[in-house]
Amino acid sequence: MTKGAVIGSPISHSLSPRIFSFLSKNLNRGNFNYEAIEVKSEDLSTFLEQNKSKYLGLNVTIPHKENILKNLDSLSVEASTVGAVNCVHFKKDAGRILSSGHNTDISGFAESLTENKVNLKGKTALILGAGGAARAVAYALGSLKAAEVLILNKTKSRAQEIAADFNSQFTGTKYLPITLENFHNKDLALIVNATPLGMENYGQPDDTKLFFTQIFQFVTSKNTVAFDLIYKPKITPFLETAERKGFSRIGGLDMLIFQALKSWEIWFEQPLQNKIEIKKDLTKELAKTSSRSERIFLTGFMGVGKSTVAKIVAEQMGWTLVDTDRAIEKQIGTSVSEVFSNKGEAFFRTLEAKIIQEACKGSKVIVALGGGALMNAENVRIIKESGLLVYLSAKEEKLAERLKNSATSRPLLRHDQSLTLIERIGNLMKAREPQYKEAHFEISTDNTTDVGVAKEVIRKLELK
Ligand code: NAP
Repeated sequence: MTKGAVIGSPISHSLSPRIFSFLSKNLNRGNFNYEAIEVKSEDLSTFLEQNKSKYLGLNVTIPHKENILKNLDSLSVEASTVGAVNCVHFKKDAGRILSSGHNTDISGFAESLTENKVNLKGKTALILGAGGAARAVAYALGSLKAAEVLILNKTKSRAQEIAADFNSQFTGTKYLPITLENFHNKDLALIVNATPLGMENYGQPDDTKLFFTQIFQFVTSKNTVAFDLIYKPKITPFLETAERKGFSRIGGLDMLIFQALKSWEIWFEQPLQNKIEIKKDLTKELAKTSSRSERIFLTGFMGVGKSTVAKIVAEQMGWTLVDTDRAIEKQIGTSVSEVFSNKGEAFFRTLEAKIIQEACKGSKVIVALGGGALMNAENVRIIKESGLLVYLSAKEEKLAERLKNSATSRPLLRHDQSLTLIERIGNLMKAREPQYKEAHFEISTDNTTDVGVAKEVIRKLELK
């Protein structure tokens, strides 16, 4: 029995096979094979019955974490309190194979906090969501002796259930279901997103960002930590909102790795000595194919410095530079201004979209986008899916100052000559800013140099 697997539906996105393949190679368990198996809800019982002799252990994910409890011979205290199992261990006992259920999300979450030096003792935390993961987080926060745990969920009754279940379990921690309406001016040490809002391939409701913005606006403390359990994408709408508020951020990858290491310990019945080192190596390994952080797109108004900043970043990182305006000029053999007057804006935008599509397929690419590239919704979609979109912003007065000598050669600033340059910039900005604000990050260029902005862009790439 040297096999492991993760079961769920859908399962193709799972990182677990890569994690356990790395562990088996690096922890001298070369004969341990691990696979991802699609198991639908209706097939769970049969799958377990037919396969229990084949596996040393299983990881369990959506939609089985709760349903599987009734199929197991025993449960750990944590799994039974939380009411969810994400790790199963099969063990021979008197000729029978017995299954035990565990919840390693609890320690995965707690260890991520410890590694990031977050101490919750006596503090207040807010959990968004009340599903299986939220319950594991609630358990961890009780174990870490948080004074107060607020729970905000779409279905209020589920938040109330957590409070009822855990108030009796952890008497030193007060669990309180709340609503957006009764949540005001809170001094929070931690906010946890335990909903799938922001997760890759989860049909994103339009108001996801607004929901998080509303939550964050009630938080009065400055040193709040924002923890998103989601690990794909690396930078989620929740973490983007936290970044804007200046909060520290933790993504879900640390938790995913720590919960996997805990599963390993349960299956092999041996504690791992150097978890932090293993976690660091695994993070590096997983980052090797984390393609979204291999493409950066710089957007913003003309004159903001996108081309220069992109060039500096490309040089410093050894990445390929794509400047969409320059690429079009090279292709057509005339200036952007001439392409606009001779062939029209629609022709220009078609070429621009093609260049963007190609850049989205590349790796280690930094792209300086033309100022109007995001007016095409399809461009926005593919850019945000394949890379990091960074908005370089500037005040209109600053832009006017920078553009005063080149405004006549910029097609879109030549209109309305009856208006001042700053008014023309203002009008165009009004139309474009909503698209610029779609970016994962905004960097103000007002009080810094191009080198300073480039440095900040590189820092964003490293953001967890
Ligand atoms: P779950 O049991 O399905 O619970 C989902 C929760 O999110 C529920 O409370 C649900 O509210 C809420 N929710 C769903 N859609 C929502 C929406 N549109 N607006 C507001 N709330 C919404 O899922 P789970 O197992 O707890 O997982 C939650 C997230 O944590 C997932 O993204 C998962 O990938 C992540 N996770 C990560 C790790 C890790 O190791 N990093 C581990 C476990 C889970 P209702 O109760 O009202 O339906």
